[in-house]
Amino acid sequence: VLKVDKVSKTYQSGSRQLTVLDDINFSVAAGQSLAIVGPSGSGKTTLLGLCAGLDHVSAGSVQLAGHKLESLNEDQRAEVRSQEIGFIFQNFQLLPTLTALENVMVPMELKGQKDAMKVARELLAKVGLEDRLTHYPSQLSGGEQQRVSIARAFANKPKILFADEPTGNLDTDTGEMIERLIFDLNRQENTTLIMVTHDLELAAKTDRIVHMRGGKLVSDSNE
Ligand code: ATP
Repeated sequence: VLKVDKVSKTYQSGSRQLTVLDDINFSVAAGQSLAIVGPSGSGKTTLLGLCAGLDHVSAGSVQLAGHKLESLNEDQRAEVRSQEIGFIFQNFQLLPTLTALENVMVPMELKGQKDAMKVARELLAKVGLEDRLTHYPSQLSGGEQQRVSIARAFANKPKILFADEPTGNLDTDTGEMIERLIFDLNRQENTTLIMVTHDLELAAKTDRIVHMRGGKLVSDSNE
């Protein structure tokens, strides 16, 4: 369901070229759960963004749910994202002018789903925010914003869920709740789960762990 082939990412930094990802190769089968671990700055978030079609590779190719991302224009990529994936961002990326309920409705409204409000209410109840529906992101704590972003990522029943530090900002109880929701989605709906985490206990619960260091994939528990 995901194939990353000889992927590199470089940034221009003044006169120097900065290599953030260097020749990354791996594939993920449908329904598999995968954790990407490694030191800060090793390229994990960058890799996740490239896999999800949020950013462009400098070299190589990414095939996501049968789509060759490099051959698509921006609109087509956005369409693939809205049809196939959910993304839980490290910094939430909620829309500040929309309430919690409206934020969760967005992916469903983009698809023209009629019962968007009902489903959004159910999803927010699932993450324990049934009494925060009309709060704006600025009126929510960090952990609450994270939970809204998780409800939003679940909203379009994604084939692949990408999560960048999904439990990073949460207290233990909330973190465990989110962990359960994510793994339930993975097991019950056969949703592929690809997450970046610093939490090695969480990583150990996935089917497979890959380690990154200095922009390279240095080990893969599948190999
Ligand atoms: P962390 O665990 O701290 O989130 P990470 O492994 O996810 O780190 P990335 O966020 O992928 O690391 O960043 C990898 C490197 O790429 C960093 O050194 C960062 O400074 C650099 N980088 C990321 N985005 C850009 C950008 N837009 N322009 C230039 N350099 C960037």
